[in-house]
Amino acid sequence: MTQLETPFADESGRVSSRRAIALARTAGFKPLEAYQGFGTPWTVRCSSCGSAQRVRLSDLLYGGSCISCGKSGERVTFVVDGPSIVCGSC
Ligand SMILES: [Zn+2]
Repeated sequence: MTQLETPFADESGRVSSRRAIALARTAGFKPLEAYQGFGTPWTVRCSSCGSAQRVRLSDLLYGGSCISCGKSGERVTFVVDGPSIVCGSC
């Protein structure tokens, strides 16, 4: 799980709740409750059909789509604004 989370994480190595919300929005979902963790089921609402569902952020970011309408949002690309992605050897 940690390995999956790393590309999206900030300097602390974790996805902050603020970033998690932004990532979910990009994926086409609106959070309905506080973010608990990368691999923890999270209640979100599909911005396309309005259906509420429990998903993991990890599933959303790695190809998950709405269980109701099948829509998957914008392909979420890795966040590249953090120092964590800077290669230590180049
Ligand atoms: Zn939907």
